[in-house]
Amino acid sequence: MEALPAALVEAIRSRVGDRARPGEVLARHTSFRIGGPADLLVVPDTADELAHVLSTATAFGVRVTLLGGGSNVLVGDGGMRGVVVKLGRGFGRIEWADPPARVRAGAAVQLGRLARESVSRGLAGLEYAEGIPGTVGGALFMNAGAYGGEVAGVVEAVEGIDPATATPAEIAAPDLAFAYRRAALPRGFVVTAVRFRLRRDVAGGMRERMDEARMRRIAAQPHGHANAGSIFKNPRDDHAGRLIDQAGLKGARAGRARISERHANFIVNEGGARAVEVKALMDVAQRVVWERSGVWLEPEVQLVGSW
Ligand SMILES: Cc1cc2nc3c(=O)[nH]c(=O)nc-3n(C[C@H](O)[C@H](O)[C@H](O)COP(=O)(O)OP(=O)(O)OC[C@H]3O[C@@H](n4cnc5c(N)ncnc54)[C@H](O)[C@@H]3O)c2cc1C
Repeated sequence: MEALPAALVEAIRSRVGDRARPGEVLARHTSFRIGGPADLLVVPDTADELAHVLSTATAFGVRVTLLGGGSNVLVGDGGMRGVVVKLGRGFGRIEWADPPARVRAGAAVQLGRLARESVSRGLAGLEYAEGIPGTVGGALFMNAGAYGGEVAGVVEAVEGIDPATATPAEIAAPDLAFAYRRAALPRGFVVTAVRFRLRRDVAGGMRERMDEARMRRIAAQPHGHANAGSIFKNPRDDHAGRLIDQAGLKGARAGRARISERHANFIVNEGGARAVEVKALMDVAQRVVWERSGVWLEPEVQLVGSW
């Protein structure tokens, strides 16, 4: 692990106290339970604290990486250099403005919580998100979706900090050019809140859709082992899981990582798996599927940090 300038750590600590943690092991913050130490993990609780962290890092020329719920990342065993920011409690508020079915959710709000609270208020548009374990910020970045729905369908605007100017900025949905599992955010843009426009609907229909999403997930996905959801994006008109299964790779292992027998597009951590083991399985899946099907699988999980 590289040492960050002591003056930088001190400047950040003077503002956020022990929510700045040098050497914090990131496996504690990822759904895979994998990832080495961050040079410095910071959990700002307010917009002012966040602005201070970002401007201090910029002043020292140190890279900043955002971590949401850590449910779509594979962090290298060498950890992450620079400052890793995980938004804290102050970014976990939901503000309802109803009518007309608008809601503003902080980037640290759990997407599933937002979906459930929306349904309980008679607001539809996020039912498919039941069971997606990420935050609103991560879901926006990834354009998270399932069963025909995706975040893009209900986003009105994104609030955040523009890295170029370190000032608050807002991006309207049409400028985010949403695509399958991506949003065109400016590089380094920190999402602090998302404004959604939902729609009124009858309670019964919404609950049914939510229950159905939950049941489909329970039926299709592995349970009991840490994972990061779908490893690869689905190629056009096909499913990555089907291609990996057809390639005979269900149950393939590398160390403590295994391609799930239940769903071939999931890699599970049997306990103590390392990032390089997961990566080795990803490489095998890409190569064998390419050889058998002529399709090059593109990772959905974000590979970050030092390898
Ligand atoms: C069991 C399981 C099931 C899943 N099912 C689905 C599914 O059905 N559909 C689906 O789409 N995904 C699914 N996922 C993947 C994952 O939950 C989503 O991609 C989720 O949106 C990621 O959110 P996160 O907060 O965990 O982001 P992270 O994994 O922490 O980060 C993902 C990316 O977003 C960036 N980011 C995070 N927060 C911010 C922010 N505030 N500002 C700017 N950038 C940010 C990070 O830098 C990173 O590049 C699943 C994962 C698991 C473990």
